[in-house]
Amino acid sequence: MRPTGLPVTAVREEIAAALAEDVPWSRVLNSICTEPHPVAVEAARAAAHTNLGDVRIFRGTKRVERKVVSLLLELLGRPQGAGSLVSGGTEANLLAVLAARGDALRTGRLSDRPEVVVGSTVHFSFDKIFAALGVTPVRVPVDDGLRLAPESVEKALTEHTLAVVATAGSSELGVVDRVDDIAAVLEPHGVWLHVDAATGGFVIPFARELGLPLPRFDFSVDGVRSITIDPHKYGLANVPAGAVLFRDQEARQADSFFHGTPAHTTFLGTRPGSAAVAVYAVLEHLGREGFVAITRTNYENTRHLTDRLAEAGYGLIIRPELNIVVVRVPNAVEVSDLLDTRGWIVSTSKRFEDAVRIVVTRHVTRDVIEEFVPALIRADHD
Ligand code: PLP
Repeated sequence: MRPTGLPVTAVREEIAAALAEDVPWSRVLNSICTEPHPVAVEAARAAAHTNLGDVRIFRGTKRVERKVVSLLLELLGRPQGAGSLVSGGTEANLLAVLAARGDALRTGRLSDRPEVVVGSTVHFSFDKIFAALGVTPVRVPVDDGLRLAPESVEKALTEHTLAVVATAGSSELGVVDRVDDIAAVLEPHGVWLHVDAATGGFVIPFARELGLPLPRFDFSVDGVRSITIDPHKYGLANVPAGAVLFRDQEARQADSFFHGTPAHTTFLGTRPGSAAVAVYAVLEHLGREGFVAITRTNYENTRHLTDRLAEAGYGLIIRPELNIVVVRVPNAVEVSDLLDTRGWIVSTSKRFEDAVRIVVTRHVTRDVIEEFVPALIRADHD
């Protein structure tokens, strides 16, 4: 540390210079996060001093968190459910698996070798969670539509099964598992079903309202016990803002932190109230109508992108269900590296060697797409 401090102007300049090195959002086509809504940024700034780890002090902030949880539960079809705001999808998924474990313990079903059944498209956050909790993942194949196959799930169930994870939709391909079919095969077994809707939670409800043929994934499906949804992705809030929601208090109370004093329902202790306030600001400001409008634009832009790619002769690996486009590009890794040197960020697929993955979200406008497609063609031909 410096013996004496710098003037604030010098600190500001240094920070501005560092931030200027970041890739501007208009060149970011691999991220499910986006530039936060200005209303979120303003609210987060106002609440920068708050800490939801100490609710005796931050009573008003806690009240806002509870309101956000209520709004999210209502969005997911279970106003009487329970939940917490957390740092993101990873923590939400961790808390869901912990709650499933607590439930199994309480009901005398906890195996000494617990297993969780997942599809091969499950998010890698679960690898960390399983390693941390000593849970064995049982990976089952996906079907031709790259969805978790209910019959494979059923075959994989054993006396050790703690939970099954369905994904609505996968960050890799934007594919939405058929949660109701999976719930139906689990029903006789009473196995905990967790839905990871970190990516699709702020898309699917509004897309369904627009009449798009996406399946139900939320608490309206009997058997869904917990859901991850991430306001800091398509919910337009600033990082870190995730949420884990439970069908009922009982399910949430199974989570092993709940019984402490004071009761913490999250893994983090000290945690930013600014996130809760920011999410609240966006939800209240946009309302359902605002999210439906943004979702409509995202689908129009996704369509524009796929049309432009088709005109240029590119085929898709899979028809997009969400706003994620996976396009067949020979030598995808080289093309992605070349794009990177030219300022564009895309990702490649681990599953398909010759595929570039593009995420369409709020900052990926028609204008951005108009600039990107020729850049992709050039990188592909160079
Ligand atoms: N689950 C899914 C489906 C995701 O897409 C992601 C992140 O992209 C996560 C979990 C992890 O979320 P986070 O990075 O916010 O911890």
